[in-house]
Amino acid sequence: MFDNLTDKLDKAFHILKGHGKITDVNVADTLKEVRRALLDADVNFKIAKEFTNKVKEKAIGENVLTNLQPGQLMVKIVKDELTELMGGDVAGVNLSGNPSVILMSGLQGSGKTTFSGKLANFLKTKKNKNPLLVACDVYRPAAINQLHVVGEQIGVEVYSEPENKNPVEIAQNAIKHAKANGFNVVIVDTAGRLAVDEEMMNEIANVHKAIQPQETLFVVDAMTGQDAVNTAKAFNDRLNFDGVVLTKLDGDTRGGAAISIKSVVNKPIKFIGTGEKMEAIDVFYPSRMADRILGMGDVVSLVERAQEQYNEEEARKLQKKIAKNEFGFDDFLTQIQQIKKMGNMKDLVGMIPGANKALKDVEIEDDAFKHIEAIIHSMTPEERSKPAIIDGKRKTRIAKGSGTKVEQVNQLMKQFDQMSKMMKMMQGGAGKNLMRMMGG
Ligand code: GDP
Repeated sequence: MFDNLTDKLDKAFHILKGHGKITDVNVADTLKEVRRALLDADVNFKIAKEFTNKVKEKAIGENVLTNLQPGQLMVKIVKDELTELMGGDVAGVNLSGNPSVILMSGLQGSGKTTFSGKLANFLKTKKNKNPLLVACDVYRPAAINQLHVVGEQIGVEVYSEPENKNPVEIAQNAIKHAKANGFNVVIVDTAGRLAVDEEMMNEIANVHKAIQPQETLFVVDAMTGQDAVNTAKAFNDRLNFDGVVLTKLDGDTRGGAAISIKSVVNKPIKFIGTGEKMEAIDVFYPSRMADRILGMGDVVSLVERAQEQYNEEEARKLQKKIAKNEFGFDDFLTQIQQIKKMGNMKDLVGMIPGANKALKDVEIEDDAFKHIEAIIHSMTPEERSKPAIIDGKRKTRIAKGSGTKVEQVNQLMKQFDQMSKMMKMMQGGAGKNLMRMMGG
C-alpha cells in the first residue's frame, strides 16, 4: 500500500538529517519534495499546496520548542497533518433505525456489490446484527446473481425481484420484508454505470428520497486516484452521502484518493476494502493510515486482527497437545489457516513497522502458504499426527503428490521441528502471549 509515496516522503525527511534545526532554507527543500511526493501520489494540487503550507507553519513554530531532531519533528508534523486531512477521528456508521437502512452508491466496478457483502458480514459477525441484502440493480441480471452468490457465501439472506424494473419499489418492498421478518439492518445495493450519468443519478436520488436511509455510503475504487475524487464530488452533490468506502487498497494504489477525498467532499472515509474476500474489510482510522503512509506500520490493526482470530478453547487444546508432544501437521495447518484469515500476506507485512522498506525488493506471494498446504495435504493422517515416521521414501511420495521438490518437503519438516521445539519451550509465561498473537 502506497509504497512509492512512503519512499518519497522518507527521502524528503532525509534532507533534514544532519541539520541541527529547521531553517527557512532546509524546510523549503524538504517541503518541495513532500509536495512532489503528494502530487506523484495523485493528490489534488490545491490540497498538496495547502498541506505543505500548514506543515511549514507548524515546523517553524515548533522548531524552538522541542528536543526532537528536525527530521523527527517533520515526520511528527506530517503525520499529524495527514491524520487531520484524512478526517481526524474514526467515523462510525449510523445504525439507529429499526431496521437501519444503508444505501450503497458508486460507479459500476467500484466494488459496491462486494462491499455490500463485506459490510453485511462485518455487521453480522462483529456487531451481532441480522442484515438483509437487497439487489436493486434492475439492468444487469448478473448483478443480482452476484449478490446472491455473496449472500450465500456469508449466510445472509438476499432480497430481489428479478421481474420488477422499479428500484424504488424493490427497495421499499425489501424494507417491508425486513420489518416483517426481524432483519435489523437493510443494505441496498444499487445499479452503477461506467461513468457518472444523469439517468443513474436520478435513479439513485429517487431511491434515496423514497427510503430515507440512515446511512448512504459512496463506494469508490482507490486505484482511480483523482477520478475517484471527482466522482465523489458528483455523487455528493446529488446525494449528500454520509461516508466514503475506499476499495482496492490492497492493489498498487498511489494513495491520492485516500488523502484528498475527505477535504474535497467533507465526508469521512468510513471503511476500506483490502481484497476480494469477504473478510477484507477494515474500519478506516485516519491516524493508522497516516502511520502506514509514513512507513511506520500499523501494529494496532495487526494485533487487533490477531485477537479477532483468537479462540480461547482452541488455544487451550493446542497447549495441551504441545505439552503432550502431540502437536502435528494438522495443527500446523490450522495455525496457517488462522493466519490466512487475518488477511493477505502483503497486507499483513505492510502493517509491520519498517517491513515494507526492508522487504521492498522481495516478491511476497499473496498465497505464501500455498506450497506448505499442498505438502501437508499430501501426507496421510498418520504422517500428519506422527511426523517422525516420515522417512525418505515417504518424502519422495509427498513431494510428488504435492507437485513440490523433496528439498521443499525437507525444509518444511525442519521448520515444523523448530516450531514444535520452540512452542514446547515457550509453554507458560511469555510463550502464551506469543501464541495468543499467533491466534492459537
Ligand atoms: P460493483 O460493480 O460496484 O458492484 O463492483 P463489484 O463488487 O462487482 O467489484 C468489481 C471487481 O472488483 C470484482 O472483481 C471484485 O472482486 C473486485 N473488488 C472489489 N473490492 C475489492 C478490493 O477491496 N480489493 C480487490 N483487489 N478487488 C476488489
